[in-house]
Amino acid sequence: MESKNSLAIHGGEPVRRSYLPYGRQSIDEEDVKAVLNVLKSDYVTQGPKIIEFEQEVAQYTNAKFAVAFSSGTAALHAACYAAGITNGDEVITTPITFSASANCVLYQHGVPIFADIQEDSLNISPQSIEQKITKKTKAIIPVDFTGRPSNLDEIKSIAKKYDLVVIEDAAHALGGVYKGNKIGSISDMTMFSFHPVKQITTGEGGMITTNDRSYYETLMQFRTHGITRDRKDFQEDHGAWYYEMQTLGFNYRMTDIQAELGRSQLKKLDDFIEKRKQIVQMYHHAFSKMKELQIPSLKAGEQSSWHLYVIRLNKKTLSASRKMIFDALKKENIGVNVHYIPVYWHPYYEKLGYKKQTCPHAEVYYEEAITLPLFPAMSNEDVKDVIKAVNKVIFYYSKEKNV
Ligand SMILES: *Cc1c(COP(=O)(O)O)cnc(C)c1O
Repeated sequence: MESKNSLAIHGGEPVRRSYLPYGRQSIDEEDVKAVLNVLKSDYVTQGPKIIEFEQEVAQYTNAKFAVAFSSGTAALHAACYAAGITNGDEVITTPITFSASANCVLYQHGVPIFADIQEDSLNISPQSIEQKITKKTKAIIPVDFTGRPSNLDEIKSIAKKYDLVVIEDAAHALGGVYKGNKIGSISDMTMFSFHPVKQITTGEGGMITTNDRSYYETLMQFRTHGITRDRKDFQEDHGAWYYEMQTLGFNYRMTDIQAELGRSQLKKLDDFIEKRKQIVQMYHHAFSKMKELQIPSLKAGEQSSWHLYVIRLNKKTLSASRKMIFDALKKENIGVNVHYIPVYWHPYYEKLGYKKQTCPHAEVYYEEAITLPLFPAMSNEDVKDVIKAVNKVIFYYSKEKNV
């Protein structure tokens, strides 16, 4: 949090007195009541609410099956396991994502391979994917960055050609639509996250949707220590108490407390997305004519669930670095952010031998990007403050301000 009295970078009062975060949850009294009811019930770990939440997400996304997890990251790990990723298997993903999209491959002792992004959509480039395929490639993890669906048709046809599994990281894209189909119904497995900045929240939480029964069964078992309680799968049977641990799984369960919050939130998802779209329209309107910035623009027919609004700085027109502009916006009490540092730039990946310059488009994008606040609970005043602050800072640093 910024101090209320911090002066804006070029002196004077900041545009806002209080700090506006880039994202935050919207939890209302209805959500609170729903959670309280569960706290008074018999189940505070995994119980009936999980099953209901899974069924409702499956229904919403038009998927046959859904499996809830303790986080989106746990869900990705389970999906890599279900896809059969193991020692030395290569999995292709994008560097412009949260590190969990690649870490899940490392958990399974696989090797993340980074393909470059498309300059316009900022999503993984199908051409770059195809260039990175080797005999060891087993899966592709496209990320629907900012809520804009990846080129799923092209990615699916590459996957078919080379016999690869597609695990779609849709942490940003719950409620999204690709060519008329709901995100969650398209790839072999699709991951959603319910972290508080995402489209809906359960505190921590995640989900995999799939249309494949065998993935579904593997995911269920992996979530609970690799244990089965289904008699028909037993190797032995000692009696009514008996269960079998058949593989090495984890405790990746969601609680009923979280699931009920998720159910209550899911009812509001379409309204949340609508509100995000309204804010985006205000931003578009305010920024589209500024030559110092590039705003996100969808192609005809494309839809986004607008998790993030990322502007790109046109450096030639500015007398300041991205860092200076970022800091100046923070001084105005606007909670800007950067999504994302290319994953392979992180010291851990460097230690594993990953080198800079692997994905040139991703690196150029990274140096220009600033994420502006975007969440359903923003008031019109909040949106206007962001616009005012961006105008102020960009004008201050524009090379053309005196022309
Ligand atoms: C949030 C996020 C994740 C991880 O989800 P958690 O629920 O926080 O574990 C993975 N990938 C992307 C792109 C994300 O934004």
